[in-house]
Amino acid sequence: MANYLIAVDMEGVHGVVGEAYKGLLSELAEYKKAVVSATGEVNAAARALFDSGAENVYLWDNHGGKDNLYMELIDSRVKKVDPPKEMITRLDFLKDINVKGIIFIGYHSREGSINGVLAHTYSSVNIQYVKINGKPVGEIDVDSTIASFFGVPALFVASDDVCVNQAKEYDGRIETVITKIGTGRNSAIFRPTEVVLSEIYDGVKKAAKFDYKPVKHEFPMEIEVRHTRVESAAWILEEKKKELGDRIAFGDDAHILKATVNDLHEFRLVV
Ligand SMILES: [Zn+2]
Repeated sequence: MANYLIAVDMEGVHGVVGEAYKGLLSELAEYKKAVVSATGEVNAAARALFDSGAENVYLWDNHGGKDNLYMELIDSRVKKVDPPKEMITRLDFLKDINVKGIIFIGYHSREGSINGVLAHTYSSVNIQYVKINGKPVGEIDVDSTIASFFGVPALFVASDDVCVNQAKEYDGRIETVITKIGTGRNSAIFRPTEVVLSEIYDGVKKAAKFDYKPVKHEFPMEIEVRHTRVESAAWILEEKKKELGDRIAFGDDAHILKATVNDLHEFRLVV
């Protein structure tokens, strides 16, 4: 019997495009729609996992560093994990729960993606890109990279077509479902709810059987982050130097910070 983790963000769920400049701020009607869509997707995924013989299904509700879903509407067999909200400890709870893989629901494409609905990497205001060993990455890549050091692979991703393609670039073995076709930052062609939910059920059932090891990552790793404001880059550089010393410095210009990291703690310090 296996355990699984469902990791939930909100921007990638079906039926939702957010609003220009506001994204999915919690006072928006689009946010409320996203909560309903995410609830349906999580329940479809959870049912598929339990129908596949899962012993424990854990839920990590991580959009905006807060609780978004009403647990009373989520399959009662699902157990919520409640890690500290700080980025630095993201996914540390994997050491306490022995999971076979991660099911990503509602994640989105990386900052700068053309036609990626609500594309961003942590902050569309502050961060213009994150690169690992020269390759641009998004939040699925980062969370999957961290999880790989706990021996946990990414098994499934449901999101818009742009994010699904990026997930497959990260690991071609991941099972995917397209929730909507992105036609702009805040526009998409929606696929019908019942089609999306039944495809998620079928896709997660298939993914639950996968038995592969995570993508292998090795230290040292080169991380590059382009900050929108030079003020932030300068301040962050001074802060991170306290731990990384000369292994963090400006890149080609004063927006860009480049670091060589030697372990997971340092990785999370700069990503
Ligand atoms: Zn989010």
